[in-house]
Amino acid sequence: MECTVLTASKSAGIANGLTYEAPEGSVTIGAPVLVPLRNRTAEGIVIALNEKRERSFDVKGIMRTLSAEPLLPAALIQTLRWMAEKYYCSLRQAVRVFLPADSWRDLLPKEVQIYSLTDAPTGALRGKTQRVLVEFLQGKTGMEASALREATGCSLTTLRNLEKKGILLREVRKENMQTSIPSEIAWPGLTPMQKEVAQSLRDDRRPSLLFGVTASGKTEVYAELIAQTITSGRSAILLVPEILLTEHCIRRFQELLPPERICVIHSRLTASARKAAWRSIRAGNIDLIIGSRSALFSPLSNLGLVIMDEEHEWTYKNEQTPRYHARETAEALCSFANAKLVLGSATPSLESWDRAKNGTYHLARLPDRYGNQKMPAVRIVDLADVSFGSVYPFSPPLLEAIHDRLLRGEQSVLFLNRRGIATALLCLDCRRRITSPDSQLPFTVHRAAGGKSLLVDHTTNLTIDVPVQCPHCHSTRLHEVGAGTQRIEKILEQLFPQARVLRADRDTLLHPEHMRLLLKKMRERQADILLGTQSVVKGLDLPEVTLAAVLIADVGLSLPHFRAGERIFQLLTQLTGRSGRSKPGEVIIQTFRPEAPEVLFAANHRTEEYLESELKLRKFTQYPPASAMVRLLVRGEGAAVRAKALADAAKNNTDILHISCAPTLFSGGKVWHVLLRGASPVRALASLDLTDVVVDIDPVECV
Ligand SMILES: [Zn+2]
Repeated sequence: MECTVLTASKSAGIANGLTYEAPEGSVTIGAPVLVPLRNRTAEGIVIALNEKRERSFDVKGIMRTLSAEPLLPAALIQTLRWMAEKYYCSLRQAVRVFLPADSWRDLLPKEVQIYSLTDAPTGALRGKTQRVLVEFLQGKTGMEASALREATGCSLTTLRNLEKKGILLREVRKENMQTSIPSEIAWPGLTPMQKEVAQSLRDDRRPSLLFGVTASGKTEVYAELIAQTITSGRSAILLVPEILLTEHCIRRFQELLPPERICVIHSRLTASARKAAWRSIRAGNIDLIIGSRSALFSPLSNLGLVIMDEEHEWTYKNEQTPRYHARETAEALCSFANAKLVLGSATPSLESWDRAKNGTYHLARLPDRYGNQKMPAVRIVDLADVSFGSVYPFSPPLLEAIHDRLLRGEQSVLFLNRRGIATALLCLDCRRRITSPDSQLPFTVHRAAGGKSLLVDHTTNLTIDVPVQCPHCHSTRLHEVGAGTQRIEKILEQLFPQARVLRADRDTLLHPEHMRLLLKKMRERQADILLGTQSVVKGLDLPEVTLAAVLIADVGLSLPHFRAGERIFQLLTQLTGRSGRSKPGEVIIQTFRPEAPEVLFAANHRTEEYLESELKLRKFTQYPPASAMVRLLVRGEGAAVRAKALADAAKNNTDILHISCAPTLFSGGKVWHVLLRGASPVRALASLDLTDVVVDIDPVECV
């Protein structure tokens, strides 16, 4: 027989594997092997088994298999091949996220020596070391050699001598091989509604979208599904969008299962910790993995369930090659592993909503908050009415609300938006942003050399002078809407010197432990106000918070992006979920566009209507999910010329409806992108010269 082997070698031209010959039945898919490569020996992994074929050249034989066990389970090998094809990359580029080591041999189970006492009489012991050792082992079932040496100070020679005398028994075992004890489960107590939903998720074989309002108890439904999966002898993966938010989630699941059966995987693990975790998972010691998107590639051999919490989050998209999205990849993995996929969200992505409505996904709803807690009252404050003084952007109603909370000893959460590098130009009278006639997306304000302001369309590169009047209503009250968030903490300190303010953003939180301490402070009421960026703060579950406020809701809207409205809607809805989780709460949204649909729908908790109206808009404008999108990134010398040549070459292709070509928003002209939209723009790629071009299928970031 023949097999395709992907090697760890970086040599050019073999990034999709090489064919080798192997004796019939000697290798399986996923097996780690040694193969001859040019004049050397290379490690490899078998990714396909093929019939022997007549060839005009010699096919070399594999040298040997490195382990009887496959390095990766078959479902992951299938996912690897699917990923390379779907995301237009080589198998070698894709395999990086599956195998967290340069030397794959490092991932094979290590052998360890276990010593235990035999029944032989111990009268013939010589010296103190031997006596200490034997006493230490009495009553124990056995111990690993290195641990024994550390505990008793004995040498390897002592162990060997006692083994020769028949006093000690030596066994060689695979590292991490624990006798599998079924996990003890503390079953969650579900409400009848939650029980019914869990049942419907289990009964439907399709991927399920669990659409549940904030604080509806989705986590308890997850716990039930995980418990059912584990008691049926299979394992589960719980994906979370932001590792900093995993802390309270981990605590919940440590109550469900013995902590040693749970493994947490995230990008801040050291290389050796990651390898150790990988080997432990591969050895079958883990029932539940909690982690960010890369946890999907954990080598569980009996995967039964994948849950993707907050499935709408943008962090599920990998922005480096392989540029996979965890949602579609999880869908592929679950179909190969015959496992169930559950996507949970209070604000589903348009992609998932579309699939749920057309029947590709099963749709389950949790429409009520847990314990009949009411949705908080939402107040919209029009920022155009607020004077731009020293405390801007704090409006009088917001200041009063914060003051009230301080008097009552309750807590507040304030959201900032640090993504707001892009600044849009807004008319204070008709409330419309000045948009580009080319793309219908908002212009971005730029300062040219000399301080002159320009409006730039970052999708088409159209550049114009800042108009004197609004093109819609001819008002001259045009205002730049940007971030300016650095001042916020200072303003709070000046206005409320007695308040204890905590700050949570990516600069102050470098490790999950920092987040844990911060949450502890909030829970123990050692702080009054939590000020944070939305990416860090939006998933919090803090029972004492009765006020949640977003300072400038429009900052995200300034991004010239067809998903800007969706993103703002998600943020505002998540925000309403932070307040009043255990007692009545209030939400304040400060905005320049109080009549914008995403603001109104979010303020009134009308998620489904928002999704329907946005989906209609996408269909009308032919943006995803109503079309497919491919983004080609060109960097370095001559990027503009090469990008334009690509756009030209893609023209007249029937699979592409729209082509745009421009420098990317934050690259200062060094990076250009070509955006292709249509029914199947990926089909056009074969005819393009993609040397040194980054291909991004279904891009999330496209400004
Ligand atoms: Zn106007």
